[in-house]
Amino acid sequence: MSVNFGLSEEQIALRDLAHDFAKNAIRPVAAHHDETGEYPWGVLTQAHEVGLLNTHVGEENGGLALGAMDGMVLAEELAWGCSGVGTAMEANGLAQQPVILGGSESLKARFLTPMTEPGRERPQMCAYAVTEPGAGSDVQGLKTSAVKRGDKWVLNGAKMWITNAGVAEWFFVVAVTDAAKLARGGMTAFVVPANTPGLTVGKKEYNMGQRCSDTRGLTFDDVEVPEENVVGQVGDGWKLAMAAFDYTRPAVSCAAVGVARAAMEHALQYATERKTFGQPIANHQAIQFMLSDMAMEVDAGRLLCWKSAWMKDAGLRNTKEAAMAKAFCADMVMRTTTNAVQIYGGYGYSEEYPVEKLMRDAKIFQIYEGTSQIQRIIIARELLTRNK
Ligand SMILES: Cc1cc2nc3c(=O)[nH]c(=O)nc-3n(C[C@H](O)[C@H](O)[C@H](O)COP(=O)(O)OP(=O)(O)OC[C@H]3O[C@@H](n4cnc5c(N)ncnc54)[C@H](O)[C@@H]3O)c2cc1C
Repeated sequence: MSVNFGLSEEQIALRDLAHDFAKNAIRPVAAHHDETGEYPWGVLTQAHEVGLLNTHVGEENGGLALGAMDGMVLAEELAWGCSGVGTAMEANGLAQQPVILGGSESLKARFLTPMTEPGRERPQMCAYAVTEPGAGSDVQGLKTSAVKRGDKWVLNGAKMWITNAGVAEWFFVVAVTDAAKLARGGMTAFVVPANTPGLTVGKKEYNMGQRCSDTRGLTFDDVEVPEENVVGQVGDGWKLAMAAFDYTRPAVSCAAVGVARAAMEHALQYATERKTFGQPIANHQAIQFMLSDMAMEVDAGRLLCWKSAWMKDAGLRNTKEAAMAKAFCADMVMRTTTNAVQIYGGYGYSEEYPVEKLMRDAKIFQIYEGTSQIQRIIIARELLTRNK
């Protein structure tokens, strides 16, 4: 059999575990965390206990060493529960991935192993700090600098929009070490513990959606980092920061599938209950077509995610496929949640019904981990240069 769209027994067990967790531990508190913006420590502590956090960390550091495809089933189910909670969990994976890919054994032992240890009152969180106030899409526009002084690196600058910043034990930080080279070896990645003197965490941003995932700025004022905290080699920063996306973009895209699936399920249910002109609105063809589009696009999005993850696990280059999954699923979840609000009519616009939250949560998928425009630039670059 050359093509198989099924999941392995282990993946089915993982999906069922994540689904039950999303249904029983995430959904009941999702509205509360959306309303208050309170960080979901309770859910994360339970997730850590049942083994749903830090799943990609290697076995040598106490993790499960799950593959990219395993991450698909987790991401979809958790985001089906609440994508704000899912993003808080996934932000650990984003910060850990470049350390997994390029970090020395001792760096991994110091920063990854403590994250997988059981029996903590609260799980440890971490954050990926690349974006700056003046540079998001244009990563080569980073201004945060790192200068070697003796056996220490000294960081100065600012970061912005960093998920988990207020709760992170450590940050994966990319800084400029040679302004003449930038992406060609002029950026270096560091692990910076949150309690390092000179590192200040800013105020929580109150965002449109995914409101419980903690987003803040950071400032670095002569922050000293030892040489051992360099991730990979000096000059590897750009390469590691981008390589992480080939793993994490499929997962973020599959989280968008989870939100879209949730919106579709709500819309299907409502369409059979709400009556207009003497019959359920599900009998109107205009409503049926919206539901059909949702079903087609949710399935198409999932297949793009799975293919890009499968390629990563198979050791194939998936940069184009990961960007395709990200662009498609981000735009798809926006369309699907907007149409779910439409199917609910006036009730869809009310906070008392579930779909307006999903529409607000959906928007960020077109912005973080590379905007929908940037994904199309990546796809075009791959088409024009690699596939010539
Ligand atoms: C809630 C949230 C969480 C985030 N979490 C993190 C995190 O954990 N870590 C982190 O490092 N970053 C994080 N980010 C930052 C995020 O990745 C950036 O916001 C994103 O990459 C866009 O950068 P920007 O905001 O500077 O927009 P800009 O780069 O200024 O872009 C503005 C607009 O111009 C478009 N644009 C830019 N360049 C081009 C071009 N060449 N062609 C066509 N259109 C273009 C963009 O698509 C966008 O529509 C987060 C952001 C948010 C809002």
